Amino acid sequence: MSKNRILELRNILNDLAYAYYVLDKPRVSDQEYDRYMQELLALEEQYPQYYDAYSPTQRVGGEVLDSFQKVAHQRPMLSLSNAFNLEDLRAFDKRVRQVVEKPTYVVELKIDGLAMSVLYRDGKFVQALTRGDGVVGEDVSHNVKTIASLPMQIDLPGEVEIRGEVFMPKASFEKLNQMREKKGEELFANPRNAAAGSIRQLDSRIAAQRKLDAFWYFFVNAQEFGIEEHSKSLAKLDELHIKTNPLRKVCEDMDQVWAFIQEITVKRHELPYEIDGMVIKVDQLQAQQRLGSTAKTPRWAIAYKFPAEEVETRLLDIVLTVGRTGRITPNAVLEPVRVAGTTVSAAQLHNEDMIKEKDIRIHDIVVIRKAGDIIPEVVRAVTSRRDGTQEAYQFAKHCPVCESELIRFEDEAAHYCVNHDCPARVVESMIHYASKDALDIDSLGDKTVELFHKKGLLRTLEDIYCLHQHRGQILAMEGFQEKSYEKLIQAIEKSKQKPLENFIYGLGIRQIGSKASKVLAKRFLHIDALMQATMEQLVAIKDIGEISAQSILTFFKEPKNMQMIERLKEYGVRMDSEEVVIQESTFTNKTVVLTGTLTQLTRKEAKELLESLGANVSGSVSKKTDLVVYGEEAGSKLSKAQELGVAVMDEEAFLQEVQAYAKDKL
Ligand code: NAD
Repeated sequence: MSKNRILELRNILNDLAYAYYVLDKPRVSDQEYDRYMQELLALEEQYPQYYDAYSPTQRVGGEVLDSFQKVAHQRPMLSLSNAFNLEDLRAFDKRVRQVVEKPTYVVELKIDGLAMSVLYRDGKFVQALTRGDGVVGEDVSHNVKTIASLPMQIDLPGEVEIRGEVFMPKASFEKLNQMREKKGEELFANPRNAAAGSIRQLDSRIAAQRKLDAFWYFFVNAQEFGIEEHSKSLAKLDELHIKTNPLRKVCEDMDQVWAFIQEITVKRHELPYEIDGMVIKVDQLQAQQRLGSTAKTPRWAIAYKFPAEEVETRLLDIVLTVGRTGRITPNAVLEPVRVAGTTVSAAQLHNEDMIKEKDIRIHDIVVIRKAGDIIPEVVRAVTSRRDGTQEAYQFAKHCPVCESELIRFEDEAAHYCVNHDCPARVVESMIHYASKDALDIDSLGDKTVELFHKKGLLRTLEDIYCLHQHRGQILAMEGFQEKSYEKLIQAIEKSKQKPLENFIYGLGIRQIGSKASKVLAKRFLHIDALMQATMEQLVAIKDIGEISAQSILTFFKEPKNMQMIERLKEYGVRMDSEEVVIQESTFTNKTVVLTGTLTQLTRKEAKELLESLGANVSGSVSKKTDLVVYGEEAGSKLSKAQELGVAVMDEEAFLQEVQAYAKDKL
C-alpha cells in the first residue's frame, strides 16, 4: 500500500516537474506540488527500504535541454529544503546548533525566478549557466548578457563565480502578457515562467526585449578572497557593482528571523518583483562548510515558503463549462476582489464532490486564495455569515450547452457531456487541434474558432482544411483582411506537414499529453500502426500506463473518430514520423558522454552521429556510462570517468572509430 503510494507520488512529481522545468508550463500550483513532495518525503523517511536514488526527492531541478551547450558546474548547484512555519524554522535552528555553537543568520528574499551561475575570469564575464539538473547546466551566456544590470567586467582578478536569480519584474511581465494577448499568443502563467522561457531562447534578441533583471545572492568562492561571512561576501558584490537585493537582514535568532519575515510578508505585494518566500542562511562560511549538504540541499540554508494569501468575497453564481473531452467544470462567479496582486472574479470549483464536501452555496461569503499565486481557488464557505438565502447546491443534470444528459463514470469525480456533437466540445477540440504543441495553426486562436463555428464554417474539425472555400465570407468578417486571410490559409497548409507526434497530440485523446504523444509516435511511426495497436503492445511502452492505453483503444474504437482521420488523410495531413535508421556499431546500446571542445565537429553533430549509430548520449557521467569521448579542455566529467574506471576516448580515436560506419556523415 505505502509502496504503491510512493511509486504513484514519484510518477506524479516527475510529470509535474517535467511540465514545470522543461516545458515551463506548470500544471498545478507550487503549493500542490509541495504537498505531494512533503508526502513523499515523509513516506520515504518512514519506509527507508523503498529508497531510490532516482526519486524526485533526490533530484535537483529538471532535465537539460538539447539545444544548448551543456556544461558541468564546477560545484553542484543545489536546491533548498523547505520550511512552512515557525516550527519548521526552529527545527532547522536546532539542527544547525548541533554543529555550530553561535550561528548568525542572513535572511534574504526568495526571488521567484530561475537560478543562474555566472563566471568571471580575470575581471571579464566568461559564461552563464542555468542550474539544469544541478550537475550539468545549459550555457545561456548569450541571453544573460542582455541583462542590463549585470556588469560584463568587474574589478577582481582570478576566477569569480557568482550565483543568483534571474527574474522578470512584474511590470515587464504584465506588458509582455498584454502584448501576447493582443497577438492571440499563449499567456505566461507567472513571471517565473516568463523569465525561464526567455532565458531558454536560442535567439538573444527575444531575451533582450523581455527586460529581465537579476539579484545575485551567492559569491561561491568568496573565501579565496579572504571573506569569512556570507553577509560580507554580499557587501563585496555590491562593491563590484554586482546587483544584490538590499532587502536583507542579519539575525541572531529565530525570533528576529520571524519578525523580519512578518515585515516582508506585509509588503511583499508592493515589491516590483515576485517573491515566493524567504531564504535563511548561516552567515559564517566555515560553519556552512561544517554543516555541509545532502545530495539535494545544503544543511546551512532553508527556504521559508509563504502560504497563499486568503481573502473573503461573495460567490454570486456557479456556472458550468464544457471542455474538449466533454468534462464539465463548475466555476465560481465571484464579486471582484483583489488577491495576491490582481483582481479575481472567477475560480474553479473542480467537481460536484468538492462543492458538496465544502458545502459551497450560491450567495455564500467564501474564502478564496490564489494557489501558487496563479490559480484562484475557493478554500471554504464562511457558514457563520449565511443569511438564509443560501440553498444547498444541486449539480446540473444536463449539459449547459447542448442539454444532453450528463454522465458521471464510476470512480470519476467529474461529470461528462458524452454528446460528441456538443458545440462546446467541438469548439474546444478544434482549439486544441490548432494549438502550438499540436498542429500549430498560429492564426486559428480560440476567438477565431468560436467565430467560424458560430458562422457555420467550422462544423467539424476536418472543416479546418476547407476554410479556403469560404474566402469571400471570411474576408467579409470584421478583423479579416486579405493579408490575415492569406496568413491563416498558409498556416493551415503548413500544419499538414507536422509530424505524427503533433498529430496524435492534436487528436486530444484523453490522458495523452504531448510527452505521451512523442513516445507513441516514436514507437508506431504511422497512425495506422497506432490505430491497430493492442493493449499488450501499448502497456509494454515504458511511459504508457493501463489508463492511457485504455483511453487510446476507446478513441480508435469510435467510428466517428476513424472517419475523421480518414478525411484528414484525404486532405493531405501527414500522419507519419521520420524513422530513425540505426546502424549497428560498437556504439549501439552504449551510454556515451561527450565532454570538452571537439575540433572536427560540433557537439550536436557528434551527438546525432552517435545516435544514428545506436548510442544513448547522456549528459553526465555515472557508473552506468560505457564511454566518455573527450575533446580539448575536458574537465570534471573526464576525471570522474577516470575515477569510476569508465572507458574514455579522445576525439581522434573517436573519429577513426566512427569513420568505419559513417563515412558519408563525416
Ligand atoms: P525552491 O524554489 O524551493 O528553492 C531553491 C531556489 O531558490 C534556488 O535554486 C534559487 O534559484 C532560489 N532562490 C531565490 N532567491 C534565493 C536566495 N536569496 N538565496 C538562495 N536561493 C534563492 O527550489 P527549486 O528546486 O528551484 O524548485 C522547487 C520548487 O519549485 C518546489 O518547491 C515547487 O514550489 C516548485 N515546483 C513547482 C512545480 C509545479 O508543478 N507547480 C513543479 C516543480 C517544482
